Amino acid sequence: MTSGGDAPGMNAAIRSVVRTCAYYDRECVGIYRGYQGLIEADFITLGPRNVKNIINKGGTILKSARSKEFRTKEGREKAYNSLKKEGIDGLVVIGGDGSFTGGVVFNQEYNFPVIGIPGTIDNDIYGTTHTLGYDTALNTTIEAIDKIRDTASSHNRLFFVEVMGRDAGFIALNAGIGAGAEEILIPEEDLGLERMLESLKRSRRKGKLSSIVVVAEGEKTGKSIFELADYVETNMPDYEVRVSVLGHMQRGGSPSCFDRVLACRMGVKAVELLLEGKTNLMVGLINNEIEATDLEKAIKGHHEINRELLRVSDIMSI
Ligand code: ATP
Repeated sequence: MTSGGDAPGMNAAIRSVVRTCAYYDRECVGIYRGYQGLIEADFITLGPRNVKNIINKGGTILKSARSKEFRTKEGREKAYNSLKKEGIDGLVVIGGDGSFTGGVVFNQEYNFPVIGIPGTIDNDIYGTTHTLGYDTALNTTIEAIDKIRDTASSHNRLFFVEVMGRDAGFIALNAGIGAGAEEILIPEEDLGLERMLESLKRSRRKGKLSSIVVVAEGEKTGKSIFELADYVETNMPDYEVRVSVLGHMQRGGSPSCFDRVLACRMGVKAVELLLEGKTNLMVGLINNEIEATDLEKAIKGHHEINRELLRVSDIMSI
């Protein structure tokens, strides 16, 4: 199943799970709409040919959903009955930490084998350097910022660009550096409004006529992106300031080669772990190898941003 927010690469992971099952001569059943589909027994038997031509597609053919009912004991009981009735004896959940929490609770209650594949563009999951969809989202984001840069430099404007990341600055920090942003505001670090203003003034004095500031949704100053833009416009009246909120376009699109290969590797490992009788594990990329991490650790652990990137960003915006 795919659950929670969708991410590019989920289809490639579904394809990998289905084909690995076929390789080991096991039947594979797709569950539509995450835990809600599990409760309603919304299933489809999937063979290797059913997943042709999806490795390159964004979104998820199994659809995704958020299920309130699965948060209740009654909901989970229905889910268990659906699984038993269908003869399913292992579950691969492709999603974020909420989906994994659901899997852990379910396993504790019914001792049902669950393996997680991290699929979220935010990259905020412990036990993997990359979640599925993150690399694609970075590429989509820098492509969008490159386009904004064209208009920013033609009109000598300062652009505030909001990118996804309520709790994590991975996209902002990496896409910000990749797209040559002047300043990057992230949830992990409060660099302060004054500092940003000083930096923008300094670069103006040094002859920069246009600039881009990348702002993660959950950045720490507590101001909305429009308030940030107003603040700078008030203090730097010679600058024309504009705001662009990239939004859900960051979640879509054809997955990058990196995400497709990662999805294939994770899907193989997830099925093999189930076949070995393992449960409550998440597959992840560590030192370029696919490793298993305890699912509860993956949920509770904190995937830290690389603070060295903040320093690199500072140096780049001289
Ligand atoms: P994203 O990172 O995109 O938000 P996610 O997997 O974290 O993805 P959530 O909406 O947090 O998305 O969780 C997905 C689903 O997992 C929920 O709708 C719910 O059905 C289930 N779930 C989450 N937490 C629990 C819990 N404590 N108990 C039971 N089920 C849960």
